[in-house]
Amino acid sequence: MPDQNPYPENYFESRDRFRTLVQQKGWELCTCPIDAKGPNGEELSIDAGILNPSSARKCLIVSSGLHGAEGFFGAAVQLQSLQMNRTAPEQVRMVYLHALSPFAFAHSRRFNEDNVDPNRNFLLRNEAYAGSPPTYRQLDDLLNPQTAPNRWDCFKARIAFSCIRHGLGKVKQAVAGGQYDFPKGIFFGGHGPSQSTKIIAQHLPMWIGDAQEIVHLDFHSGLMPWGTYQLLLDPLVTPLQYQQLNSWYGNNSYKVSEPSGEVYFTRGGFGPWCVQQTPGRNYLYLCAEFGTYSILEVLSASREENQAFHYTAKGSVHQQRAQARMREAFCPTSEEWRRVVLQQSLDLIEKSIRGLTELG
Ligand SMILES: [Zn+2]
Repeated sequence: MPDQNPYPENYFESRDRFRTLVQQKGWELCTCPIDAKGPNGEELSIDAGILNPSSARKCLIVSSGLHGAEGFFGAAVQLQSLQMNRTAPEQVRMVYLHALSPFAFAHSRRFNEDNVDPNRNFLLRNEAYAGSPPTYRQLDDLLNPQTAPNRWDCFKARIAFSCIRHGLGKVKQAVAGGQYDFPKGIFFGGHGPSQSTKIIAQHLPMWIGDAQEIVHLDFHSGLMPWGTYQLLLDPLVTPLQYQQLNSWYGNNSYKVSEPSGEVYFTRGGFGPWCVQQTPGRNYLYLCAEFGTYSILEVLSASREENQAFHYTAKGSVHQQRAQARMREAFCPTSEEWRRVVLQQSLDLIEKSIRGLTELG
């Protein structure tokens, strides 16, 4: 069979191809349905492909579509890797998680069926689903107009002005760091664990089995300069993990997310939660962020889609236009971009397999 274009046209094509490849290549398929529907009432699910025994001491997790619209890119990485028949030796269990936020992938959104940003929903056991940065409150009217999208509302100029007034770092942190008080707003973290969060919590022990050494590549897009990537780390990375990072991926490949740093810090992020779920194990979570357009374009696209989702009819021209803009913002159609990021992503998987294999 000739190689297919790895980039899927939509969630359903992506899932069909994922399931077919997983089974063709002799991996185990695990399907977890969610209680939400696709644009035409279709069933939705998180699908996992697993290779190698649960007794393996090491595990590589590759996940996509935590932010739905980023799944067009993240799933392409998985499909291409499966197509190329990339496997690890038996001591490394491989777990590919397709579409962690299936509703958002199917509707080309960043936010899920409850308007929750899944990567702000994984609060730790001692944290409350409440609170918002004061600057978010001040910017609520600008970020979340309660009307259909209007292309002429000068959003980019107005938010740029706010950045000059409050400081770019402060605005970035306040807007995107996560809020728990504006349920129809962007970057809303939810009022409790979402369906996806619960499904992942339930299945994670089975997915990783007995592995003590776990590397998790969670593919995202939209934050870095065009066609480049960074591995974003949580501040809790251990000295041993820094050694792993330096020798496996190189010392320029990662950045730590912290409130005062270059990369904003998010509440309810997936990584620290995964670590908390797996005490006593070496769980290295890497948010692999690939750059597309400017942060203003990505933010503006997410805002437009959110307005269209809440304040226009299902299937409206507004929604169609906003969804197309989301797909371009998070998975550009540029052939050069698609080729470069796919190569970099496959390379990250290779380096992870090699590192885990060589680990004592
Ligand atoms: Zn993302």
